[in-house]
Amino acid sequence: MIEVGNYIGGAHAAGLGTLSLTSSAPDSGDPLATLVDSREADVDAAVGAARRALRGEWGRWTPMQRNALLTRVADLVDERYDELARLDSQEYGGPITRTRANRARVVGLLRYYAGLALQLEGHTVNVSTPGDHHVFTTRQPAGVVAAIVPWNGPIGSLIWKVAPALAAGCTVVAKPSEYSSLSALRVAEYVTEAGAPDGVFNVVTGAAETGRILVGHEGVDHIAFTGSSNAGKAIAATAGAQLKTYTLELGGKSANIVFADADLGAAARGSVAAAFQNSGQICSAGSRLFVHESIVDEFLERMNRQIAGMRVGFSLDETTDFGPLATAAQAATVDTLLEGAVAQGARIHRFDVRVDERLHREMGNFRLPVALVETTDDMAVNRREIFGPVVSVLPFSSEEEVIERSNAGDFGLAAGLWTSDVDRALRVSRALEAGTVWVNCWQNLDVAAPFGGVKDSGVGRESGVEHILSFTRTKTTWMAFRG
Ligand code: NAD
Repeated sequence: MIEVGNYIGGAHAAGLGTLSLTSSAPDSGDPLATLVDSREADVDAAVGAARRALRGEWGRWTPMQRNALLTRVADLVDERYDELARLDSQEYGGPITRTRANRARVVGLLRYYAGLALQLEGHTVNVSTPGDHHVFTTRQPAGVVAAIVPWNGPIGSLIWKVAPALAAGCTVVAKPSEYSSLSALRVAEYVTEAGAPDGVFNVVTGAAETGRILVGHEGVDHIAFTGSSNAGKAIAATAGAQLKTYTLELGGKSANIVFADADLGAAARGSVAAAFQNSGQICSAGSRLFVHESIVDEFLERMNRQIAGMRVGFSLDETTDFGPLATAAQAATVDTLLEGAVAQGARIHRFDVRVDERLHREMGNFRLPVALVETTDDMAVNRREIFGPVVSVLPFSSEEEVIERSNAGDFGLAAGLWTSDVDRALRVSRALEAGTVWVNCWQNLDVAAPFGGVKDSGVGRESGVEHILSFTRTKTTWMAFRG
């Protein structure tokens, strides 16, 4: 077991707090590392280092220098990605094939925002006020950014914020999840190695309380948060009272709609991935699967054929498709929601998934992928984010009906539909209340394509140009001159 301190001002720092957190592998329950449970003094030290860096040498760096730094970080992350993937898989339990496959996306984010660092431009403004004035705008860094992320895709969600924040010239204090902190601490070392001045990128570990302290710290200017809707609302309340800016990437309960005219083979493959990838621990999981009433049995059979080739097993095993849930609490939440649905008349439909033989006696945090049939839209399992390998199969009869039912509820992160009718694809995607709509595909992400939610699923967008702009402030300069 290793002991790892916070990363503050370009070096690991012993915790000033008195408590310790244990990060443990969900496969085995074996302890992995002892981390600092950061308190006010730790957060204050990290925010102080970030503020000093902002006012120091980093604040004078040119766009080309920031571009070069992010390119060097991208090279280091690319070269050492296998280690980052292994740390994430060990800590939160995601299959190693999945965490490793994220390399292109993570490195791509660093390279894409390295490029955008060179393109942050203002403009001249044609004013009509009396007298002669030259007026122009510039984009300036928002300041010290608090980047708070969850455990279900640790390195990906961290770099998603850090790359555009540093490209914009901000400094960062990151707070990874208490269940997956090691890859963030390792990346902090790479940023220093790549040549960033001390304090540009800092990491404080800890749980929700550490996050609350960081959000409320007077030295933080902007909050970039990914996590649950409840935490997002609490953060927005604190930020609102202090007039800080923020982006919030929150939870979802996404509708995935299969029309009878779809390519059902592709729809079944996509719907299995939508529901069960990462054992369902994905914000944009397609956990409400609306299937036209004429094809429900056939579609479940197609999903079964797809899953039959897949395997539930240990996260570091190369043949694992579905790993354990990240925590015992997460597994208990899934059980409670399933039991509640069954008590209200729902039925569990099991698939012929293969299971690692070591799991036959003791399931621990592992849960098998299942479908729930005969649920109603008002059941908790269809309204709350389940964050486990459970999909509700909901028959529908008409386009109007499925649009209305898909849009019901608190969330609006993503939605998807499968159809061979182009008119229907455009009509339905326009009507769906979601930040992203996937047509005949699911979970596609790209560094250039904005992603984020409406309603309880969040505020703001990540990826693309919009994201880097959220880390900047527009300054307008007026210069009077003798004309
Ligand atoms: P969580 O909200 O419990 O925690 C997320 C992070 O915030 C952790 O680092 C946690 O320590 C911290 N935190 C918790 N409460 C806080 C508070 N009041 N103030 C400041 N920090 C706080 O979420 P989780 O269980 O770690 O992650 C799962 C959630 O994240 C799901 O709801 C999922 O949908 C969401 N998520 C969203 C996206 C997206 O892009 N929209 C992506 C991944 C995960």
